[in-house]
Amino acid sequence: MSDWCADDYEPLIIDKGRGVHLYDCDGNRYIDGNASIWTNIHGHSHPVIDSAIREQLEKIAHCSFLGTTNEPAILLAEKLVRLFPPATLGRVFFSDDGSTAVECALKMAIQYFQLTGDKHRDQFIAFQGAYHGDTMGASALGKISTFHKRFEDFGMPVCHLEQTSQLQGVDGTKVIAVVIEPLVQGAAGIRLWPSGMLKELRHWCDENGVLLIFDEVMTGFGRTGKMFACEHEEVVPDLMALAKGLTGGYLPLAATLCSASIYEAFLGDPERTFYYGHSYSGNPLGCAAALANLRVFEDEDTLEQLPPKVEHLAGSLKSLAEGSSHVAEVRQCGMIAGIELSGGDGSLGARCCAAARKYGLLTRSIGDTVVFLPPLVIASDEIDKAMKALERSISDILG
Ligand SMILES: *Cc1c(COP(=O)(O)O)cnc(C)c1O
Repeated sequence: MSDWCADDYEPLIIDKGRGVHLYDCDGNRYIDGNASIWTNIHGHSHPVIDSAIREQLEKIAHCSFLGTTNEPAILLAEKLVRLFPPATLGRVFFSDDGSTAVECALKMAIQYFQLTGDKHRDQFIAFQGAYHGDTMGASALGKISTFHKRFEDFGMPVCHLEQTSQLQGVDGTKVIAVVIEPLVQGAAGIRLWPSGMLKELRHWCDENGVLLIFDEVMTGFGRTGKMFACEHEEVVPDLMALAKGLTGGYLPLAATLCSASIYEAFLGDPERTFYYGHSYSGNPLGCAAALANLRVFEDEDTLEQLPPKVEHLAGSLKSLAEGSSHVAEVRQCGMIAGIELSGGDGSLGARCCAAARKYGLLTRSIGDTVVFLPPLVIASDEIDKAMKALERSISDILG
């Protein structure tokens, strides 16, 4: 805050968004290279999503989801379930954002074992470098020093592993759930998991009666090249957290999906009730935006358009790395990329992103890694422009 409030600091004030571009209040245009913190899918001011929200607004903006429901929420739940194989993730619980979608999964998992009489389970397994949100439960699962260290003694019991081989040393009868960002850890700096890992986790969880929770808050809705990251390994978890791209990057809305067997454990006596609700759960405007987001996926063949873009991005990243001795490594998973600069002290990424603004690219870094995670609608020539902007800013700051 002291930097932000310093006399000579000029905050960037975003005024407008059109397609993959953001405009500041002076009229400067930037490629939204971070998809507005990993949320935007089809671009800003998309006519279909805009008008879906306007139409919903003509009816009602919000009404409590406690004991009543609404049409967009009903339709959205149906649509979400149909994105997964039959008889897998058949139930949907709405909340507000990625953190609460994860909280909800954690509480469901805890209560599930209480209800099924398996009371010895008292810990979660998560991974080094994990990020699952900033609320207390989600934060306890996380393991990135900057974000989580201060709070780690105040959260839940979580055992953090570096890799699946360490599961051999874990007493599976004590574990409630394994929680992971499938394929790629985002906030850790775009870190890719080894392939086959999700299958291994599924196997270990099945053998030990442990629930498997996938946090697809960042990877969901096409980012990795398929609708969901778990499709790459044909693994379905018991619970899944969705948010960010759910509304196409328009409104805060989240969903926790679960299997029928988890759902059924909560049926019966009132004391089995899952007491979890947020004031804005199932918000009709958010659900209308999410429905429109899914409609655009179909209308614009968003997933079908991805493979050439992913390939194009791979080519541009390769040239960037080959063209500059200051690029230590590039990492890519679908339309998610991390460009790690070499010899940095953790501040290089931020300096590079600041420099990129004057070349028309707005993005963010994590330490010395510049993140490039654009709206999926981005065209190949816009990818080129963004990479050119990065190349110039790297040479501006590093020579
Ligand atoms: C962003 C993110 C979250 C938290 O979502 P919020 O909407 O910011 O609360 C959780 N998990 C992952 C993997 C994320 O990238």
